[in-house]
Amino acid sequence: MTLGNELVVVTGAGGFIGGHLASALRAQGHKWIRAVDIKPLDEWYQLFDDVENLSLDLTLKQNCEIASRDAYEVYNLAANMGGMGFIERNKALCMLSVLINTHMLQAALKCGVKKFFYSSSACVYNADKQKTFEAPSLTESDAYPALAEDGYGWEKLFSERMCRHFQEDFGLCTRVARFHNVYGPWGTWYGGREKAPAAICRRVIEAKVSGKHEIDIWGPGNQTRSFMFIEDCIKGINLIMNSEILEPINLGSAEAVTINQLVDIVEEIAGVKLLRNYDLSAPQGVNGRNSDNTTIKKYLNWEPNTTLRVGLEKTYRWIYDQYIARERGEAGVIRESSVA
Ligand code: NAD
Repeated sequence: MTLGNELVVVTGAGGFIGGHLASALRAQGHKWIRAVDIKPLDEWYQLFDDVENLSLDLTLKQNCEIASRDAYEVYNLAANMGGMGFIERNKALCMLSVLINTHMLQAALKCGVKKFFYSSSACVYNADKQKTFEAPSLTESDAYPALAEDGYGWEKLFSERMCRHFQEDFGLCTRVARFHNVYGPWGTWYGGREKAPAAICRRVIEAKVSGKHEIDIWGPGNQTRSFMFIEDCIKGINLIMNSEILEPINLGSAEAVTINQLVDIVEEIAGVKLLRNYDLSAPQGVNGRNSDNTTIKKYLNWEPNTTLRVGLEKTYRWIYDQYIARERGEAGVIRESSVA
């Protein structure tokens, strides 16, 4: 645990999870936070004026050294990513994120960083173990033999192993969490990179506002997934970073639902019932996936526990407000500049 006066670096801080992490670190009393992202500052989702905010391309080694200078802890969340529609169509771009983690690890070593967090993904899991629709619970060892999600998942698996070997060979203390679908306010909700919960909230809102009571669903609707609310994700990152867990560990909800059930919940929150059009040619990913939380419960006596209903309620309200603001042409569409 840092003392609050040590420098903590968050990369990908202009994005969804990184923005929430920077916010949480401030709330925990950290006085010296450096937030880094490739996006110009006016495109960050959350921006804090008591944080050192840097717009840098972290695929470049020299920029990783600027980002890591004097750092005590680094949380490396920067990556080129998005929902299934994005990662299936941008495999090379996703794999190029390997440059970020490679150079951030090297810079961390050079700058004497004490602890390094890496955000991996459930996309590292072997595809053969995710063929059934009955939400197979994936335990950490199911990543091998390796048959990860093409592009994005392979990059995550490689970077996980690099963290492991930087720890074993060079003594850099690393922690790795495999996030399972994270959702919540200040996440991407339009533009092509949004993930299922945000995409469905937006489509339900569009249908409600337009009066055209139909919704397009990618795939047959019976694919299963679990979705973790952002507050659980941030709590889990904190617990894992300050634990003795050396191996990559699942950080996800174990509440599996079908995509149809996800739509049911959002419809209920919105108070509408929509005609469902299933697009079987759209990107849909594996058939079933859930998080086996045996390991995290053993180590931390905790697991992500916000119910999907509660998390979606907050997410839907937030996207609804953003949608209406955007319709009105108001500035600051998805950006939240907060100097609380
Ligand atoms: P996000 O896209 O909102 O945030 C990632 C940020 O990284 C973006 O703001 C982006 O601009 C930045 N970035 C990309 N390339 C960069 C570069 N070259 N230099 C500096 N910054 C760069 O995504 P997120 O949901 O906040 O994801 C954060 C991390 O968690 C990522 O590593 C992602 O792979 C991982 N993850 C997320 C989920 C999820 O459901 N959101 C699931 C599994 C893993």
